[in-house]
Amino acid sequence: MPSKKSNDPTLVFLGTDGADCTPRVGCLCEICTEAHKKAGRCARNGPSVFLTGADLLFDTPEDVAHSLEREDIHHVYSLVYSHWHPDHTLGRRVLEQLNLNLRKRTKTIADLWLPAWVRDDFRKRLGLEDHFQFFEKMGIVKIHELGEGEPTKLGNTTVKAFRMTQPGLASYLVHQGKKRIVLALDEIKDWNPGSELMEPDVLVLETGWFERDKQGEQIIPTGHWIRESEASFEETLELVQKINPRAAIATHIEELNGRSYADYLELEKKYREYRLRFAYDGLRISISEEYSDVEPEPRDKNKNRFRERGTLT
Ligand SMILES: [Zn+2]
Ligand SMILES: [Zn+2]
Repeated sequence: MPSKKSNDPTLVFLGTDGADCTPRVGCLCEICTEAHKKAGRCARNGPSVFLTGADLLFDTPEDVAHSLEREDIHHVYSLVYSHWHPDHTLGRRVLEQLNLNLRKRTKTIADLWLPAWVRDDFRKRLGLEDHFQFFEKMGIVKIHELGEGEPTKLGNTTVKAFRMTQPGLASYLVHQGKKRIVLALDEIKDWNPGSELMEPDVLVLETGWFERDKQGEQIIPTGHWIRESEASFEETLELVQKINPRAAIATHIEELNGRSYADYLELEKKYREYRLRFAYDGLRISISEEYSDVEPEPRDKNKNRFRERGTLT
């Protein structure tokens, strides 16, 4: 596991919860109580990921400043967004803390790379476009608009954004040397990724909702809109099977699931053939050329391991 100070390009999971955080304020359930007592891998902040080397931040949930501080990350040179939803954008004022230091009389500029279709929503929702233009006037952000599949070079890293099936959503393909990382951080329902996104070294995607809690109780009521518009965990597994990455990492893990860190470790065992890991806050995945902890076994280029076996379990 790469250390906090490693210079290797590393994917750092800043926060791995979804719309809430764990512990959730006002909740005294078993999961939240454990998170409150033990913290560490039992607690989850809002959803965001950071790539060292490029110093690229994906999304700004409300508590992103705390997550960056926890992980000893003090510079964000570039920023991208998966979509406009509040759980991914409401911590955007972190840019003031990162780029403006009145006492030292210093100011830095972060590059915001906005896919055109994500920006369309930013113009309509939550005052996002207004706020980023305000940051631009302050001289702490520069907005760049991206076309679909248009490569952006960030040092040794190349980033491309792609549309997803849900409107206003962007998935990202990151090239780091010969390594390819695909990030689909939320809203993967009905997503049909193009050929460029298949068989990456690492796939990061949302976990999806669970039908039942550990006691066998139905979690989301029959007829609730979430069932229609959000991907279930089974749909996430189907996508992993289809995309066939060397390693898959599930994040955006809702407190609503009623599952603890230990429960997700059990699920990893159960679904071992998917090479699926559940992220936790502070998880670091090295993606350097020389060393990788994401290649548990070499892949036969001509075979999809699921097709070989015929069926899913
Ligand atoms: Zn979300
Ligand atoms: Zn709870």
